Formats: sequence, structure tokens, C-alpha cells
Amino acid sequence: MAFEGLAERLQGTLKKIRGKGKVSEQDVKEMMREVRLALLEADVNFKVVKKFVADVKERAVGQEVMDSLTPGQQVIKVVNEELTKLMGGEQSKIATANKPPTVVMMVGLQGAGKTTTTGKLAHHLRKKHNRKPLMVAADIYRPAAIKQLETLGKQLDMPVFSLGDQVSPVEIAKQAIEKAKEEHHDYVLIDTAGRLHVDENLMSELDEIKEVTKPDEILLVIDAMTGQDAVNVAENFNERLGITGVVMTKLDGDTRGGAAISVKAVTGMPIKFAGMGEKTDALEPFHPERMASRILG
Ligand code: GDP
Repeated sequence: MAFEGLAERLQGTLKKIRGKGKVSEQDVKEMMREVRLALLEADVNFKVVKKFVADVKERAVGQEVMDSLTPGQQVIKVVNEELTKLMGGEQSKIATANKPPTVVMMVGLQGAGKTTTTGKLAHHLRKKHNRKPLMVAADIYRPAAIKQLETLGKQLDMPVFSLGDQVSPVEIAKQAIEKAKEEHHDYVLIDTAGRLHVDENLMSELDEIKEVTKPDEILLVIDAMTGQDAVNVAENFNERLGITGVVMTKLDGDTRGGAAISVKAVTGMPIKFAGMGEKTDALEPFHPERMASRILG
């Protein structure tokens, strides 16, 4: 599970201050020195760490007194609230169009988990929101991608729209939306092509699909295991294409978790879902508050 090392270190640090009946500025400073190191070691972006430490210090030192908590507990509460804020504060839900179908473009680099996440999201929408999604195989360049999505469709007993690999992704997307309207699908999940790196060809193709489909949601799928590279990818995609949210995959692995903590602060884009495994039900809505509590204990 992600964050294990970070959680252990932060919980150890906070334990020292928890029981204190009086917390001096020096205590806060010392605690934050350890918190800073723990976050950096967990691969959180250094600018994000700097601001986080400054924000906590400012609030923790001059904070209002609450009768129900000891001063030590109050400092921990501040750390918890700031960590929650850092990861987006409120939970960010997936968009729903006023007029169905809601069009969702799934984008990301190869291997990040885009196709798998498309299947997971379809499953989630049906199971938790009673929706009727149509998955669209628009990744015509990776030979196995169409097959992979079709296999997922069979497994889930959900339809996949495909026109093979000889029709342009823009045309596939266009026709898929028509079909969704005819057959009353309320979500269209377009699995677009990925590349090994962000490049101009990929971006202009995605731009074209965006232009034609007018998506309500552009979800960027990134791999938590790739650390700050994932955050850079998110910055690139957001600047070039404009995304509306992030799906952070492979948080079940032993990643240090820095990408999940940094991405909202660096890009302004919230994590909407977390991938927690390879199976189709291993997708969870991302709750910043729960995640912060999981890390801080
Ligand atoms: P794509 O190239 O972005 O479409 O990537 P795929 O969907 O083919 O996924 C690449 C690999 O990552 C596959 O082996 C998936 O099973 C795996 N994968 C995707 N999401 C997760 C996740 O949340 N956790 C784990 N452990 N593996 C994942």
C-alpha cells in the first residue's frame, strides 16, 4: 500500500507532540523539520513541501485555543487539515452533463493504466450510480488496446464501441456518441491512444477528439509509481490539452505516494479516483480527508 513509509514517519513525529499540554514555537519548529524531511523523502514536490510547512507553522503557532483539544492535538489537527487541503480539500466528483450522454475522454501515457481504468470506471458508474456507460476503443495504435477493452467489456458484460484500427480516432469518437444517443447510454468513456512520452502528434490528435466530442470530463490517468514524473506529465497535459481531473493508478503498490500528494497543488487539478489494483472493482473515489487521515493515523 502507498504511503506506508510516510505514514510511519509522520505518525512517529506527531506522537511526540500529541500529549503535550503546552506547545511552544520551538516545538512546532522541530516537529515541522521532521515533517518536511518525511515529505521530501516520500517524493513530494519540494515547492509544495515548502508552502505546506509555512502554512502549518503559521496556523499552528498563532492558533485559536479550543477547549476540547490539548495544544498538542490542536497542532495535529492543523497538520491534518492542511494535508487535506493540499490534496484538494473536498472530494471532486465525476461530471454529469445536463443533457446525456456525459462524454469522458480518458487520456494518458502508455502503461499508466488508461484502458484498465476505462473498464473500472464503467463498472463503477454502473454499480454505484446506476448508469449505462458505453466504452469506446479509440486507441488504434497500440495493437492490443482494442482487444483489451473488448475483453474487459465481455468480462463486465458491458458494450464496447469499436471500428477496428483503420478508422481515425476522431471518427470513432464521433460515431460512438451518435450510437450512445440512439441506445440511450448516459456515459461515453473514450479510451484514447497513449504514447511513451508526451509528444506533439499525440496532443494534436487528442485536441481534435476534444474539439469534435466536446467532453464534459477529460480524465488524465497517471501512474503513482512514476513519482514526480507523473506530476510533470499532468502539468504537460493540462497546459497543452486542459484536463478536468486525474486518476492516480497503482496506489496499491509500494509507491512513496509523493505524486498523489503533489499533483493537485502543482497542477490545480484534483484527483477524482484512485486505482487500487488490477481488478475491475479496484477503483475508489479519491477522498482527500480520508487519505490524510490514513497517512496521519
Ligand atoms: P494503458 O497503456 O495506459 O492503457 O495501460 P493498461 O490499462 O494496459 O495498464 C497497464 C498495466 O497496469 C496493466 O498490467 C494493468 O493491469 C496495470 N494497472 C492499471 N491500473 C492499476 C492499478 O491501479 N494497480 C495496479 N497494481 N496495476 C494497475
